Amino acid sequence: SPQEDENKGNRTKEAIRNARELFEKERGSEKEQLHLVVIGHVDAGKSTMMGHLLFDLGNVPQRLMHKYEQESKKMGKQSFMFAWVLDETGEERNRGITMDCGYQRFETPTKQVTLLDAPGHKDFIPNMICGANQADVAILVVDATRGEFETGFEQGGQTREHALLVRSLGVSQLCVAINKLDNEKWNQDRFNDIMNKLKFFLKHAGFKDSDVHYIPCSGLTGENLVKPSTESELISWYKGPTLLQVVDSFKVPERAIDKPFRMSVSDVFKGVGSSGFCISGRIASGHVCTNDKALICPSKEQGVIKHITIDEFPVQSAFAGDQVSITLTGADPTNVSVGFILCDTHNPVPLATKIKARIIVFNVKSPITIGYPVLLHHHSLVEPATVSKLKAQLHKGTGEIIKKSPRCLTNNSCALIELSFQRVIAIEKYSDLKEMGRIMLRVGGTTIAAGLVTDIINS
Ligand code: GDP
Repeated sequence: SPQEDENKGNRTKEAIRNARELFEKERGSEKEQLHLVVIGHVDAGKSTMMGHLLFDLGNVPQRLMHKYEQESKKMGKQSFMFAWVLDETGEERNRGITMDCGYQRFETPTKQVTLLDAPGHKDFIPNMICGANQADVAILVVDATRGEFETGFEQGGQTREHALLVRSLGVSQLCVAINKLDNEKWNQDRFNDIMNKLKFFLKHAGFKDSDVHYIPCSGLTGENLVKPSTESELISWYKGPTLLQVVDSFKVPERAIDKPFRMSVSDVFKGVGSSGFCISGRIASGHVCTNDKALICPSKEQGVIKHITIDEFPVQSAFAGDQVSITLTGADPTNVSVGFILCDTHNPVPLATKIKARIIVFNVKSPITIGYPVLLHHHSLVEPATVSKLKAQLHKGTGEIIKKSPRCLTNNSCALIELSFQRVIAIEKYSDLKEMGRIMLRVGGTTIAAGLVTDIINS
């Protein structure tokens, strides 16, 4: 009835107001959180730049940096010493490339930044997706060295591909680091030339001019990363911000605290000495308090939240963005699996047997046709799915329909498709809840596409 709807509406409004107040009270003094992905062609200098930035910020102990310096010298690879900060395994070192998404944190005056490192090697685009899929903002690194920028920017280079990819995954703010300008003697014309080429391209890729910042820098010498440059040639024409200042100036997407509570279950285990059982995961949206009821979907198992911990510390409430362990009572653990969504009982997550999604395709060995089997990755869920319709092929930049009902999809295409599942899954439209509407598709251990959920079908 309308009366019930109104009551429910008021209750929701009140819950949201309370969540905000509670968050301000408990966390108001903390810095804003920003997830940053670093993209660009292989060897553009991404790892070196971020390693040097972390060192300049004091995040890398002097002793460790000294060790990297000694070891890299011994191997005749001293130019990689800063890149080693981000490359933790020996295998990556030997091959001289960053292989996986390494996670690092640093702070700016107003922000706590989580760095989702993106490797540049061609084979490793799938890893870069895992970073890009969670990113709020991106740094696009280009090598200013004569010939090198051109190679990275050509068709087949990764500069365009990465920029289009992060844009299609929802990133709208970009810092373009025109790097290795030391190789070009800090030449202003070279900087302007590269900037103008990128401006034209990025505009067509769907970035607003005002959301893209261009900075000249050198990851190797550290020029213009954290401290303003002292290089006379550069400061004769450049008065703008450092890389760190640009990162600090990015607008932070709000933590989705005001949204309904959602948490993807990444682990289920027996609690220590407690009744009930434990689940852990990252809260995607909303908040929870102890003694709240919660629903697990798609099994619709209901339970009560008895206990919440963050980093092993008990807390009364937790918010979007927090990694938590939750003890549930009154629910049957056999109805809970990794990938299920713990959610608000009043506003549960939708269920779907099919979804429509806007995807960008890369890395497919054979073109995607109707009936193509894939694994859907959605938070912790890995679910077999079939491409059941190819609705349209889209322009990568503008999203306009280029072709209706294409017969197949090849690498680097953008498309609207329908996916079907054998079981019901809990998932949401990107336009309803960004945090719950991003997906990746994998086949045989490789990511072949990433995208956004545009529609939910539950037949
Ligand atoms: P990534 O593949 O993008 O992570 O690139 P790396 O950080 O591994 O750097 C590739 C190579 O470029 C290494 O030999 C670096 O020493 C070199 N390099 C990185 N940044 C600069 C820079 O600012 N100036 C110069 N001259 N060389 C750089």
